[in-house]
Amino acid sequence: MFTSLLSKMVKIDKDKACFFCHRYLNRDVTIDGVILKGDKVLLIKRKVDPYINYWALPGGHVSFDETVEEAVKREVTEETGLECTKLSFIGVYSDPHRHPQQSVALAYSVKVAGGKAIAGSDALSLKYFDINLLPDKLAFDHKKIISDFLRKSSTYI
Ligand SMILES: [Zn+2]
Repeated sequence: MFTSLLSKMVKIDKDKACFFCHRYLNRDVTIDGVILKGDKVLLIKRKVDPYINYWALPGGHVSFDETVEEAVKREVTEETGLECTKLSFIGVYSDPHRHPQQSVALAYSVKVAGGKAIAGSDALSLKYFDINLLPDKLAFDHKKIISDFLRKSSTYI
């Protein structure tokens, strides 16, 4: 407890381990899921900062003891109530300016296997948006993730 409190107060310098917990200032790994239904994509309204109240893809941090794929399925279910089966990789998003903590995101498209769409966890609400009528500003680089996915999937059709 004491150590974790200190680690929040102590500024860790780049390329130097923290004096207290020996961690480096590494970048977190996060995941995002693109769920398409016809011409619509499922977005959640964020309950937390950064980008509180912005529409975003469901996603979050990869936890200890889980794979990236498990994290996608867990986060999608937590935030949307939907169960997912097949995942396919879209890309890596690592622009340091994409997130205040510079998290590196891995984006996946997700096939829904069941469940009922209900906002949960860090989501205030959720909604399917027409891919041609997305909100002006989405959280992070999620607009780019969606357009990359649409471009990639159209080349495979
Ligand atoms: Zn520390």
